Amino acid sequence: MFKVLTCLVTEHDIRLVLLAGLVCLSACLTAMRLYSRMSGARGLVRGAWLLLTALVAGSGVWATHFLAMLAYKPGLETGFSSTWTIGSLMLAVAFMAAGFYASLLVDEERSSKFAGGILVGLGVAAMHYSGMTAFITQGHLTWEPVYIAASAVLGIAGATAALMIIGKSRRIWRQMAAGGALTLGVCALHFTGMAAITIVPDSSIAVPTSIMGVGMMTFAVASITALIILGGLGALLIESGANRSALERIRTLANAAYEGIVVVQNGRINDANSAFCELAGASLEDLLDQPLVGGMLTFDDPLQSDELRREAHLQPVGEGKSIPVEVFSRQMDDGARAETSGLEVLAIRDLRERRGAEEKIRYLAEHDGLTGLPNRNALQVKLRAALERVEASGESLAVVCIDLDHFKEANDLHGHLAGDQVLIETARRLTANLQAPSFAARLGGDEFVVVQITDQDQPAAAAELAGGLLEALKVSTSWEGQEQAMGASLGVSLYPDDGRTAAALLANADMALYRAKESGRGAYRFFKREMDETIRERRNLARELRQAITDEELIVHYQPLARASDGEVCGFEALVRWKHPVRGMVPPLDFIPIAEECGLIGPLGEWVLRRACADAASWDKPLRIAVNLSPLQLNNPALPTLVHEILITSGLSPARLELEITESALFKDYQRALDNLRRLKALGVRIAMDDFGTGFSSLSTLQSFPFDKIKVDKSFVENIHRDERATVIVRAVLGLGRSLNIPVVAEGVETEEQREFLRGEDCAELQGYAIGRPAPAETLGAWTNETPGLSPPPAADKPVLRRKRAA
Ligand code: C2E
Ligand code: CA
Ligand code: CA
Repeated sequence: MFKVLTCLVTEHDIRLVLLAGLVCLSACLTAMRLYSRMSGARGLVRGAWLLLTALVAGSGVWATHFLAMLAYKPGLETGFSSTWTIGSLMLAVAFMAAGFYASLLVDEERSSKFAGGILVGLGVAAMHYSGMTAFITQGHLTWEPVYIAASAVLGIAGATAALMIIGKSRRIWRQMAAGGALTLGVCALHFTGMAAITIVPDSSIAVPTSIMGVGMMTFAVASITALIILGGLGALLIESGANRSALERIRTLANAAYEGIVVVQNGRINDANSAFCELAGASLEDLLDQPLVGGMLTFDDPLQSDELRREAHLQPVGEGKSIPVEVFSRQMDDGARAETSGLEVLAIRDLRERRGAEEKIRYLAEHDGLTGLPNRNALQVKLRAALERVEASGESLAVVCIDLDHFKEANDLHGHLAGDQVLIETARRLTANLQAPSFAARLGGDEFVVVQITDQDQPAAAAELAGGLLEALKVSTSWEGQEQAMGASLGVSLYPDDGRTAAALLANADMALYRAKESGRGAYRFFKREMDETIRERRNLARELRQAITDEELIVHYQPLARASDGEVCGFEALVRWKHPVRGMVPPLDFIPIAEECGLIGPLGEWVLRRACADAASWDKPLRIAVNLSPLQLNNPALPTLVHEILITSGLSPARLELEITESALFKDYQRALDNLRRLKALGVRIAMDDFGTGFSSLSTLQSFPFDKIKVDKSFVENIHRDERATVIVRAVLGLGRSLNIPVVAEGVETEEQREFLRGEDCAELQGYAIGRPAPAETLGAWTNETPGLSPPPAADKPVLRRKRAA
């Protein structure tokens, strides 16, 4: 050690030594940078980097030696033989190439590094001692083997340390440390090697005069080496610059992407775009090196073979709720570069918006838009699920069908908004009276269903619930300061006694509801087996009615209408009858509702209209004929065309036809009904408001359409003189007719007293048993023929002041 130092200090030009050291350091640093680049590449690319690394390292080490030799001043003349000088350079480059190549022969293997380190170290030694062969001085060189051996060991140690330090890392500090280790090794080898020499002077030895001076040589060697090193650095810069700009472009693109993009290497996050960072709720720095799959990302289902798209949940950093995502993944390992090994790119799409939309659609499909309760479809599904549940748990289940008693009123009196408010309020009260898992649903209109699931005994629990609901729904509500009556009728069916399926339970609860309404509303009824009988009866009747229309079992009776002033019969009302072969004469109130329910009202109504028009057209006198229209008929857009066709076929003058409608006919579909009425009126047909006073918004109905006649309901007429209120109402209706200039007819006039009263109150026409009962067409001759027939009208007034009526 001492000898090495003495040799270094006393026999060397220290400035040139420093230059040599500088050249060595920069060459080693550059070589290590190139080396790490090489270790990251594969195939031909790796070969090219290897060549460059070996060139830089070899020429650097060689230049170090050469400059150090120029610095060597043994006090004798010195020179160099050119052959060995160049030979040593080639040896250096060759050994370096072999050493670096060997060090990467097996990735991640220490033995490779050792082998490489030994080769590189030996290369430095080989270069040094072959370089010494080129050294000529006026004396003989004697060598101390210990120092030679020590120098080789030091060189190998430095090289091996360098390769161990750098490994496969691309970090700059590792490259620096490795470069430093290599520099130390090279320098130690050189100066230990120099200490091994003793020169025995011999003036007979001729030293060849060098072509260039020491200064020029130094300059030439240093600058050539600098050029080579710069070339290496340049290659590095160009490559990393190209990489960086490509990376920059990719990054800009990735950041512009709406989807989260994350690069994963061996399961850990290597890079990510800003969309992913936002999704994960953390900065890129915080995300780097975090495990992704199994950490932040959990797949919903196990991987199916070669599936590119998978659904998963992403747990953001911190507290946030996990985000449903869709993941597309692609392996990036292109096999050409080691840095892409194990690389995977994942595109992560936030599914919250889509899920939200799906959720919304599902909600809309399953819920009633107005009240937010499950709708009819959802009820079926939920009820079936509830049945499965109670079957398994042994709980009890009740189905309650609910129908609001005053809904139509609210709708008609105060408008649709008020009606909506009643429905919303109903839904609120129902849910307030229920405890999960019991639930309420809205079937549409003012029909609701409650499904009760409880562990209490039935029917007590259902009775208690129904009673509670009834009470809750009775409380009136207010709309724009006006009191709105509420109330409901309820029908209850129980599982399993009244049915085991959703359909059976609903049908039976509905039947019980029908009974509750029949019994005067505002009550609840449990389903009873006998109700089944009634329903079967109704079904039979419906089937028979269908047959009756084709078999012509229906007949039309006519009831006269007389002018109040002179008692002259001015028209008839057509009233349908069913001459049933077994049941006898069935009144219309028993079969019209059935016809309406089972869709027979269309053909039935058409048949009556045809018959009545045909009969009236055959009368001598051009008397008016009134025909009743069901609300369902009025809502049929084809009605005006049908009436037109019947008028043409029968030859009846349109002015003689009067169609009677009730207020309720207008409320099903107000606009369509009104539209039909206008078209009928345009045909020249007259429109009468039937059963006036039993409806709701009488005045507004009258103002909405120019009716040709108002018929006061017989329930008021029969109570004239019996009930103060009825008398007042009849007077009011007559006054209303006068003020609106619409003639009023009183129905159900049975007594002389009533007739006198009505005549006195200026009523236009009268109808009722006091004028004449409904009778078959063939019995009307006395009224309809010009020449009075044999049978006089049963209850006609004496013919005073006959006014001619236009046909
Ligand atoms: P409506 O239109 O109010 O017909 C008058 C009803 O009162 C008839 O009963 C008639 O027989 C009855 N009536 C007439 N005068 C008196 C009287 O002085 N005292 C009493 N107590 N009743 C009297 P009907 O024929 O049983 O008809 C009942 C309802 O059936 C009718 O009420 C009408 O709404 C409906 N209807 C009858 N025929 C038809 C039809 O062809 N089509 C449709 N859609 N409905 C019809
Ligand atoms: Ca009528
Ligand atoms: Ca009537």
